[in-house]
Amino acid sequence: MKFNTKVIHGGQHHDPSTGAVMPPVYQTSTFVQTSPGKPLNENYEYSRAANPTRSALENAFASIENGTRGLAFSSGLAATDCVLRSFKAGDEIIAMDDLYGGTYRMFTRIYGNSGIKFHFVDMNDLEKFQSLINENTKLVWVETPTNPLMKLADIEAIAKITKKHNLLFAVDNTFATPYLQKPLDLGADIVMHSATKYLGGHSDVIAGALIVKDEKLGEQLHFQQFATGATLGPMDSFLVLRGIKTLHLRMQRHCENGEKVAAFLENHPKIKTVYYPGLKSHPFHELAKKQMKGFGGMVSFTFTSGKKEDAVSFLEKLEVFTLAESLGGVESLANHPALMTHASIPEDKRKEIGISDDLVRLSVGVEDIDDLLADLEKALS
Ligand SMILES: *Cc1c(COP(=O)(O)O)cnc(C)c1O
Repeated sequence: MKFNTKVIHGGQHHDPSTGAVMPPVYQTSTFVQTSPGKPLNENYEYSRAANPTRSALENAFASIENGTRGLAFSSGLAATDCVLRSFKAGDEIIAMDDLYGGTYRMFTRIYGNSGIKFHFVDMNDLEKFQSLINENTKLVWVETPTNPLMKLADIEAIAKITKKHNLLFAVDNTFATPYLQKPLDLGADIVMHSATKYLGGHSDVIAGALIVKDEKLGEQLHFQQFATGATLGPMDSFLVLRGIKTLHLRMQRHCENGEKVAAFLENHPKIKTVYYPGLKSHPFHELAKKQMKGFGGMVSFTFTSGKKEDAVSFLEKLEVFTLAESLGGVESLANHPALMTHASIPEDKRKEIGISDDLVRLSVGVEDIDDLLADLEKALS
């Protein structure tokens, strides 16, 4: 099955009891047993372990990422947390040095405090990365493209190294989505998503996903999820499943609009640097062409003046773009990383990785491009 068919039919079947084309929202906590320990349907006993609406979504997750097992969580961070629970004090984790703020906060302030050692490194420096691997190293965590600086990491090259050293390799695929990039096919072991973003696509649900190819690893992660409880409810599962059905259509338009917004900004005298992997000027343009099918809808940029006030006043003037955290919905959003999404990263660390006070991040939506460009032009002048 091709990807555009998988988003609609992958892992799905009609409801066996009624023939309903869409899976019903099975809003139930428990399931009847005909005799003690003998559930009427062997797959369902209690909704923390499994729920049919969530199963339908999990099958869709597995299908679109070319995995064998998908798991749906109550948030993206809950999905990440489930992976991190496999490790103990003394273990070491190597992570990309440009991460979603909440991921960095969990790594350093929750798991860092319980004795797991984290190394944050530029994953494009493969020699430096390899020099950090020792017998305690267990996991490599990568986000590509990164948030908000749109740095890329070469998944295939990293996977060669993690395989050699027998390390788990997880990729946060939230920004690219499987429409643009399939980490499991490139050698990663785990794909993580904030399904709150592009997979859900309509800014109406908080949800997360893990997808794996290895069935044993899938079982282990499902046990961790079942034993700790951060599952996605039936209604939210239904919403994400519905979102996925138009993922290919939305991503196509996000890419078209993203490219046009990036080109407009790059030619604007008030803009200094535009971070968008589709631009020839982007340091990872060649890798993006190799690893991704398109360049997505996320665009970040700084001002020629370098002034925070200019970024703030620009953001206040936008009308079609909404000033809000989050990304990946049909509507265009604008964000000031230093004051909003990345405020949890200490200022000196932000400076070090290049999140300056005049940096603005756009999640370019699927509106008419003329209205988006006119809004940017007006807010800049
Ligand atoms: C939003 C986001 C997360 C966290 O997901 P939640 O659903 O908000 O918990 C993780 N990684 C990336 C890249 C994100 O954008």
